[in-house]
Formats: sequence, structure tokens, C-alpha cells
Amino acid sequence: MNSSCDLIVRGATLVLPSGLVRADLAIDGGKIAKIGPDLGFDARETIDASGLHVIAGIIDSHVHFNQPGRTDWEGLRSGSSALAAGGGTAFFDMPLNSLPPVINAESVALKLAAAERESLTDFAIWGGLVPGNVEHLGPMAEAGVIGFKSFMCNSGVDEFQRADPGTLKVGMKRAAELGMLVAVHAEDEDLARVRTAEAHARGSDVRTWLTARPVELELEAIRTAVDIAGETGCALHIVHVSSPEGVALAREARDRGADVSIETCPHYLLLTDQDVVRLGAPAKCFPPLRSESQRLGLWGALEAGKIDTVGSDHSPAPPDMKRSADFFLNWGGISGCQHGFGLLVSEALSRKPAAEVLPQLSELLSGNVARRFRINRTKGQLAEGLDADLTLISLGTPHMLSNADLLYRHRQGPYDGRKSAVTIDRTVVRGRTVFSAGRIAPAGASVHFIRPYSG
Ligand SMILES: [Zn+2]
Repeated sequence: MNSSCDLIVRGATLVLPSGLVRADLAIDGGKIAKIGPDLGFDARETIDASGLHVIAGIIDSHVHFNQPGRTDWEGLRSGSSALAAGGGTAFFDMPLNSLPPVINAESVALKLAAAERESLTDFAIWGGLVPGNVEHLGPMAEAGVIGFKSFMCNSGVDEFQRADPGTLKVGMKRAAELGMLVAVHAEDEDLARVRTAEAHARGSDVRTWLTARPVELELEAIRTAVDIAGETGCALHIVHVSSPEGVALAREARDRGADVSIETCPHYLLLTDQDVVRLGAPAKCFPPLRSESQRLGLWGALEAGKIDTVGSDHSPAPPDMKRSADFFLNWGGISGCQHGFGLLVSEALSRKPAAEVLPQLSELLSGNVARRFRINRTKGQLAEGLDADLTLISLGTPHMLSNADLLYRHRQGPYDGRKSAVTIDRTVVRGRTVFSAGRIAPAGASVHFIRPYSG
């Protein structure tokens, strides 16, 4: 007699860290019960996935969904729906651009309540490290935040102050005691101020703006951050590293014994400064998009295994904040959590064969994220006993991406008209389909607040 389960996914090619395997997935109670060929289960629901690849659900460790507070910019419902349509099964929401910013336990509770009500996928919450809130890091850790985010330059919003080196040092010391990780936006404030003033004095157009945030800002900030990490013993995560030079610097620090991980974003691998000129403000972000040679250098670093994670840094804003004739005044932030990951996989497949590319990308988008943020006892791999978070993708069905398909609050993004060979066929969160055949499931099913385990 066959055993029974809730769901069986039949005939797919599974992407495992060790390579590609043709096998079925039996899912029960939201967990992967069994992986193997031609499983003899009686299932209440069957998904025929022949011809598709299944990767462990994408965990986007870097989004700004801006709720509570700035829901006119995005929102947990629209943001998580877009993420699900892009293959994401979980996100970590950043502490800023929501109001209040998440800088104490009370603001964690507010965001948690909103996300439990609105999110379509599982989620984690970043706390913030800002001047004067070191005594709140402990209570935030207790409330379950995934780590502490800080800005080494002006964050763009007044209520989330930048962490000067003194603040960073005190905060990282405390975070290390708590066994928590600190993430930094690495651009040096002093250089940012000087270079921006110099550039703005010369002009206000897009090409002049592109000279305002050279890579030296990133390198200077990384030097400062890795030194403090080494000194305090704190785990450091450098978000959105935009250059191969930045990756190299962070790797050197790691080789010297600092506990440093490196994130980059799809847009640094898919777009260049020429796209900012072409597209204008929808492609404006901090750090800015770099040259073609730096983009290719970043691919080289990624393929050599020197980058740990890829997050979207989905950072939306209303269109009227991106319409200034003075390019310097436009909001900086790229909306990318829906189209970025699929296009990244497509681009990677144009460079190397699937058997090489997919296991590596699956680690960057899920496995490494889960390990680094200590949620790998439940997520990050297709493995028996873990959450049945799945991203089903179809390769080799070329199509054109369109901003008209975006589920963001505002349909703006930098990938309109780009050709992709990858289609997100279905997204499954703990055994429940949240996106398939272009349709989003109704919200309202229970979602999980993901907390890191301690130690
Ligand atoms: Zn960000």
C-alpha cells in the first residue's frame, strides 16, 4: 500500500547543491517528506512538473516593502505578491523606509503584525542600528530580528540616521555579544558628500550624477567596516557590493580572519551606467550601476564563488519622486524583486551550461542565505524534513519582460523589453502554491515569521 501525502511534484529536474537530478518530491504538512524517482505516494494534489526545473525557494534577504508607513511607495501585499511572481518564497524586510523605522522592539512588533496580516510569503524582519539605539539591540534580537542593518552614508530618509564609525563600533560589539550579524550599506559619507558637491557644481544631468559616487566610496567604507568587524569579532554582511574591487577587498578581510559575507544584486550583474543614461531615474540606485568592465568583473567574481548571496534590494518609490529635471534630486532605488532573479538566471545560462549554473545560483539565492542567517534548519535546500519552499522554472521559453506585468504598487522597473529565457512557472511556500500560470493566490493563509536560531 502506498503512503499518503498532501502534494506530489512529479517529473521535475531538481537542482541540488551536488547537481541536477530527475526525481519526484512528496510534500506533507508543509515539509518535504521524501525525494526520489517515481515515488509511490497517494497525494491529494499532484503537480506535473515534467520539463521544469525546481530550485529551493528564493529567499530575498534585502527588500524595502515600506509597511507600515510608506504604503504609497510599496506595501507588504503588493511587494510579496511581486516577489512570489518572481520566484521568491521568503523575504527579509529592511528596517528603513517603513514608518516607524525598525529601531526598537515596539517597531518590530508593528511590522510583524502588518506582515502576518498582509504577506503572501514567509518573512523575516531586519532591525536597524542607528546612533543612540544600542540598548535596543538586545530587545530586538529577543523579538526575533534576522540581523541589524546600518548605513555608513546618508540613508535618504531623516528618521534613519547613518552609523558613524563610533556607532558602528559600539553596535557591532553589542551585536557580537548577542550572536547577531550586522549588515552595512558600504559607501563612505565624507567622500560621498565631497564627490557629490563637486559633481553637482558641474551639472545636474544623469551623466554628471554618475560621477558623484565613484567606487572609491565603496572601497573606503568596506575598509572601515571590515576593520571594525575584525576588532569586535562581529559577523558582518556587506549588502549590495557593486564592484569586483569591493568583492576583492572584502575577501581579503575574510582571508585575514574577519567574519564577512558579501551580497550583490541582480541589477549590478544585468545593467550598467549606460542603462542609467538610457532609462533615467528607474535605474538610479546607490551605489550606482557601474561600467561594463566592472559588470563583467562582478560576474567573474560570482562564478569564482567569491560572492555569498544575491538579494534584490527592491527599493521602490512613487514615480513623482523620480521625475526631477535635476537628476541628483531623484529618489535612488531600483524596483527589482519580480523580474531580477529570473533574468539573472537567464543571463547566467547564456554564459555557462545549466548543470553548472543552476546549483551555484540556487546556493546564492537560497542555500547560502539560509546558512548565513541561521535559518537553514528549515529553509534553503530541497531536502527531506525542510520546508517545502519551491521555485519551479521553465528554461528555454524566450519571452520579453514587460513593466505592464509588474505587481508592484508602481509599475516601474529597469527590465522592460529585456529578453529572458527563463519563466517562473510556479512558486510554492511550505507546500502551498502562491503563484502559478501568471496568477497570484489569495492572501490569508498562514505565513511564518522566520527567526534565526541562536548560536
Ligand atoms: Zn536596500
